[in-house]
Amino acid sequence: MDFYDEMLDAISRDAARRGVRADEAVFQKFLDRIVPDKVSAAPPAELRAQTSRLDSVPVAGTTAGAIDAAETPPAGAATPPSIPGDWAGLRSMTLSCRNCPLAGSRQNVVFGEGNERARLMFIGEGPGADEDASGRPFVGAAGQLLDKMIAAMHLAREDVYIANIVKCRPPGNRMPGEDEAAACIGYLKKQIELIQPEVIVLLGGTALHFLLQIDGITKYRGRWQSYNNIAVMPTFHPAFLLRKAEAKREAWHDLKLVMAKLGIAL
Ligand code: SF4
Repeated sequence: MDFYDEMLDAISRDAARRGVRADEAVFQKFLDRIVPDKVSAAPPAELRAQTSRLDSVPVAGTTAGAIDAAETPPAGAATPPSIPGDWAGLRSMTLSCRNCPLAGSRQNVVFGEGNERARLMFIGEGPGADEDASGRPFVGAAGQLLDKMIAAMHLAREDVYIANIVKCRPPGNRMPGEDEAAACIGYLKKQIELIQPEVIVLLGGTALHFLLQIDGITKYRGRWQSYNNIAVMPTFHPAFLLRKAEAKREAWHDLKLVMAKLGIAL
């Protein structure tokens, strides 16, 4: 982190703590005070771009601040401090979130569900129509297959935690956009932080892309990855397995690796 990043972070944290918005004027005032003879009235374009991140810092006690793509840290970075660190606060903020355009077409925010102390967490792409209607993750046809996969691992749905990269349905079941995922993934990262699972199973290439920033589910499935020192197993999404049944054997291979990691006998 360079000097200006540190300043921006400090302003951002202080503004969030005091419940005010930190905009470009605040940043400029700060610069004027500490380096008055080095900074022109208008900050350079690069710095203006950085200050635009401050416009989107959520204000404490509100959900008004957008968490946009530029603000959201890369995978592995700390969750923004403005996201509550407890389940009740996190759920409350998420259920009222309107930080990306998906808020406009959703019926329900699909927060995620399961054991908050789960050893195993499944992460998919985003809610579909059934999930949007019910507010629960993986309840449609793909969800029923996921239930069978979980049962095959000698576990119940209540034993694991299930969530998605985005918590509102992308219209037409399209992939979430980069901006939408960036706006939302802080909530998921906080869930992971609270659960501290031993293993995360990423269901499909979209989850792989947005959590680990790597692409190619066919290449990476069955190969252990890591997220914040948590073992991550990418595998096929159940919706894909419904379309391509012959891939179930590979997915089962991946789940057996997970069982072995968790000490679950076949
Ligand atoms: S998808 Fe996520 S960021 Fe977008 S409105 Fe829903 S909860 Fe908020």
